[in-house]
Amino acid sequence: LVVLKSVNKHFGALHVLQDIDLTIARGEVVVVIGPSGSGKSTLCRTINRLETIDSGSITIDGKPLPDEGKALAKLRADVGMVFQSFNLFAHKTVLENVTLGQVKVRKKDKKEAEERARALLDRVGVAAQADKYPAQLSGGQQQRVAIARALAMEPKVMLFDEPTSALDPEMINEVLEVMQQLARDGMTMIVVTHEMGFARSAANRVVFMADGRIVEQATPDQFFSNPRSDRAKDFLSKIL
Ligand code: ATP
Ligand code: MG
Repeated sequence: LVVLKSVNKHFGALHVLQDIDLTIARGEVVVVIGPSGSGKSTLCRTINRLETIDSGSITIDGKPLPDEGKALAKLRADVGMVFQSFNLFAHKTVLENVTLGQVKVRKKDKKEAEERARALLDRVGVAAQADKYPAQLSGGQQQRVAIARALAMEPKVMLFDEPTSALDPEMINEVLEVMQQLARDGMTMIVVTHEMGFARSAANRVVFMADGRIVEQATPDQFFSNPRSDRAKDFLSKIL
């Protein structure tokens, strides 16, 4: 579904993505881990073209990423993204947050979009918050709304960049549970996270990055019990 071939990206002199080859099949859940600054966020951002690449190619369903205009808006709908910071529209209600994109980008009529929004808010457990503004919600609730908003667009793939890192500990699980359910429902997911419990239980594959490269890829079992590279061993010894 998502194929990166020999992707390179620089920020000035910094070679932040180095010859990245990565293929993600439909329905696959890939967890990306690695030290700070290794390029995990940049990798995610290239896939919905929040960042351009210097060389190589990225395709989704065999099609190259569009450069601009309506095609780019559609790409951003096809590739849902949930960030560490919640990024909801502060001046719109929860319901409006989950309805807007469906009307603007997917051209749904308002009533149909609202019905879908309410169903999704229910699915992520925040139906009772529909008429509130984001600032009136807890971090965990906001993040679940952000997930619902991305899902409302009927994405082909969901990107999560440390979705629980900014949350208080008691709210982490409520977000991880929504993500677990999504994984069980067959969503294609790329998840940058330090939650190794999630990686073990939900991931089909762990991708370990360091210094802009994919150093190692394995099943969670293989990776956690028997990492092959010194970089991965060193990283795991620090976080486990
Ligand atoms: P973290 O775990 O801390 O989130 P990361 O693996 O997500 O790290 P990136 O955010 O992808 O790492 O950043 C990789 C490198 O690129 C870092 O050295 C960072 O400082 C640099 N970088 C990221 N974005 C930019 C930018 N817009 N301009 C210049 N340098 C950047
Ligand atoms: Mg990051």
